[in-house]
Amino acid sequence: MVGHRWSRVSHEVKTFLTRNHVPYQWLEVDRDDEGRRLVELAGAGPDELPLVLVPDKEPLRAPSNLALAGALGLRTTAQQPLYDLCIVGGGPAGLAAAVYGASEGLRTVVVEKEAPGGQAGQSASIQNYLGFPKGLSGADLAHRATAQAERFGAEMLLARDVVGLEERGPVRAVRFAGSGDLEARAVVIASGVAYRRLEGPGLDELAGRGVYYGSSASEASQCEGDDVYVVGGANSAAQAALNFARHARKVVMVVRGGALEDTMSMYLVEHVTATDNIEVRLNSSVVAARGKGHLSSITVCTQGSPPEEVPTNWLFVYIGASPRTDWLGSSVARDGRGFVLTGQDLLLSSAAVPWPLARAPFALETSLPGVFAAGDVRQDSMKRVASAVGEGAMAIYLVHRYLATT
Ligand SMILES: Cc1cc2nc3c(=O)[nH]c(=O)nc-3n(C[C@H](O)[C@H](O)[C@H](O)COP(=O)(O)OP(=O)(O)OC[C@H]3O[C@@H](n4cnc5c(N)ncnc54)[C@H](O)[C@@H]3O)c2cc1C
Repeated sequence: MVGHRWSRVSHEVKTFLTRNHVPYQWLEVDRDDEGRRLVELAGAGPDELPLVLVPDKEPLRAPSNLALAGALGLRTTAQQPLYDLCIVGGGPAGLAAAVYGASEGLRTVVVEKEAPGGQAGQSASIQNYLGFPKGLSGADLAHRATAQAERFGAEMLLARDVVGLEERGPVRAVRFAGSGDLEARAVVIASGVAYRRLEGPGLDELAGRGVYYGSSASEASQCEGDDVYVVGGANSAAQAALNFARHARKVVMVVRGGALEDTMSMYLVEHVTATDNIEVRLNSSVVAARGKGHLSSITVCTQGSPPEEVPTNWLFVYIGASPRTDWLGSSVARDGRGFVLTGQDLLLSSAAVPWPLARAPFALETSLPGVFAAGDVRQDSMKRVASAVGEGAMAIYLVHRYLATT
């Protein structure tokens, strides 16, 4: 793969390859003679970078995830006209639902827009998941879970963004971005959450060019010897800071609150405070970013001090969680923040979408019968790997009960 170091598209392609466990060689067009030679040979213009060379295929120019997945032989289209179960999202909840659905005889398909593993796939070390006393990386967990789901016969469609959900008589259909859809007798929504965007001058323009939302564990090595800023005070920010600290000269955690203990598990607070090259700035926030083409400085505001502009090429943001539910139509009830309502909560008089059947909804069922929600996307969920996995498994028990009523 040949591209510019600070290009947003190059970053996206690298992330897609890494998170899907595709080994690649990265050549910087500005620094590598070989990279320049390959670009010239392919006749690729500046807008066509990154150039991705896959053995025995035509060179790909600034490819979309879908084009890349197709060239790499990853499955992107459904094999069957109708499934028993379609799971939207291949994070811990979706993968658990796939393992239990497929192993219990349901024709199961998972549709994932990026890579299996979801947020957990970004974690360098998950320490609190049952059965792994020394922890395991999110990439490892995702890889194992995907293999397990596929061994039981679940189909995994990658690089497919679901943009709509429809009720078609007794079946439910999910629509893909671009074109295409698939039908299933039941659906599990496991689309999780995404980090909230930081607001302030320059921050949007530099997203993907030094300002990143989340990151995969392997990206830390790119920051070798540099100063890295991490925004957020929860467990995910702590894990990222610890991971970056193994490569960066210094990691600065910018935390809005007044104490790490308020938002972070104790074992991580201890790790962070014991790491020499991590500095924690409490009562602070990042309010602006500057850079020509890529990030060169940020402005940090700390309560009681004047704003300070500090040089850095790397800002990683881990704040808040917005549910990924924009793609759901009005038939799936959500709370004010967009989290999906399920089970008994649908029967409250304040529910925006009334429950339509005489029977009560099953525990994880949404306001659209036969459509269930599991994991972080659900209102009041615990936001942990174990609870997402538990809900994914439990959803299958409820899918069976629903199918028995149809
Ligand atoms: C860096 C980091 C470290 C963490 N560490 C820990 C830890 O140590 N222990 C712990 O218990 N928890 C940890 N967590 C939290 C944990 O990862 C989450 O609670 C868990 O991943 C939630 O799983 P999920 O399947 O519900 O959602 P997600 O993991 O968010 O997965 C949702 C998936 O759905 C896909 N998707 C979304 N929308 C669509 C769409 N429209 N079409 C197709 N696909 C879609 C996404 O691409 C994603 O893969 C961590 C989180 C992060 C970010």
